[in-house]
Amino acid sequence: MTSFQFAPEYVRAIAPYQAGKPIAEVAREFGLDEAGIVKLASNENPRGMPESARHAIAQAVADLGRYPDANGFALKTAISARYDVPLDWITLGNGSNDILELAAHAFVQPGQSVVFSQYGFLVYALATQGAGAQAIEVPARDFGHDLSAMAAAIRDDTRLIYIANPNNPTGTFAPAEALADFLRQVPSHVVVVLDEAYNEYLPAALQYESTEWVRQYPNLVVSRTMSKAYGLAGLRVGFAIAQPVLTDLMNRIRQPFNVNSLAQAAAVAALTDYAFLGDSAELNRSGYEQLTQAFEVMGLDYVPSFGNFVLVKVGSDDAAGSRVNLALLKQGIIVRPVNNYGLPQWLRITVGLPAENTAFLSALKLALA
Ligand SMILES: *Cc1c(COP(=O)(O)O)cnc(C)c1O
Repeated sequence: MTSFQFAPEYVRAIAPYQAGKPIAEVAREFGLDEAGIVKLASNENPRGMPESARHAIAQAVADLGRYPDANGFALKTAISARYDVPLDWITLGNGSNDILELAAHAFVQPGQSVVFSQYGFLVYALATQGAGAQAIEVPARDFGHDLSAMAAAIRDDTRLIYIANPNNPTGTFAPAEALADFLRQVPSHVVVVLDEAYNEYLPAALQYESTEWVRQYPNLVVSRTMSKAYGLAGLRVGFAIAQPVLTDLMNRIRQPFNVNSLAQAAAVAALTDYAFLGDSAELNRSGYEQLTQAFEVMGLDYVPSFGNFVLVKVGSDDAAGSRVNLALLKQGIIVRPVNNYGLPQWLRITVGLPAENTAFLSALKLALA
């Protein structure tokens, strides 16, 4: 048997991404009925896909014999109208994960360095490794990005910085002024990817116009996803907004048909479904209150979150996360262990529907008893 020693060392060193367990897998493993399983593990919208998207998909099915529009004209037009940017400032991705990968491959050469935060989204480390680049992981401050330390960590060979705001898995948020300050400090040859996967969940008072910064900074890429608040995780759609030079480079290495026809049609519909977005944010706020109030009553520490999930500390020994996770799985509750983030005493819980949150909290009480 060959062990494929010729594969690049940096590829062989990659530890694969651990996704949230699918419902069907937990049903098989634990002998449970799928219908009774509650999944709060991947920050999906618990309301599922919006009706507007379902309708658009039904219409688009008729054309599935044809290739998708490689340039995504309808979707880019919708994004362009919503964010007031020209079409050639937009890159479509097979989920925003694709955007994060495109940035690493378009802007970083093997051996150069990429800056991101401790507890930053794991895909940043994976994309960095996949490009054969070196990771500069900057220690977090209060679970969040230490932006001044990140600016100070930039080296001559640094080509890319990833920032998630709010961050996953910690839910921390850097206010607009802090980010604006940071962007001013970054040298113009370093690309900043500002990953705003949870932007739609921010209260109005904290919202800021990152596209204004894109106009100001030719080295900024803003990344958005349709997987979280928009409820389209299974379809895989994300997009980037950046000035044409960066956009052109990312599009050169993008697979021509990276976003399929159904995904494009659904995304056009969902993008302006403001009623769905508003209701989803509202449901998230009350679900977050439900979870965190219960944590307080139970005396559990949690990290205040600006996303649709919350990190909760389930014990003070390093087996706590795994132990409580297993006890929850046996009760049909899927959450996300975060050992791989160096947080073995914590679990990340996606805010669900009220009944799902209740089911999780009852299971958690049993698991901790
Ligand atoms: C979920 C998530 C993404 C990626 O989601 P896609 O489904 O690939 O669009 C990107 N960044 C962060 C911080 C996330 O939590």
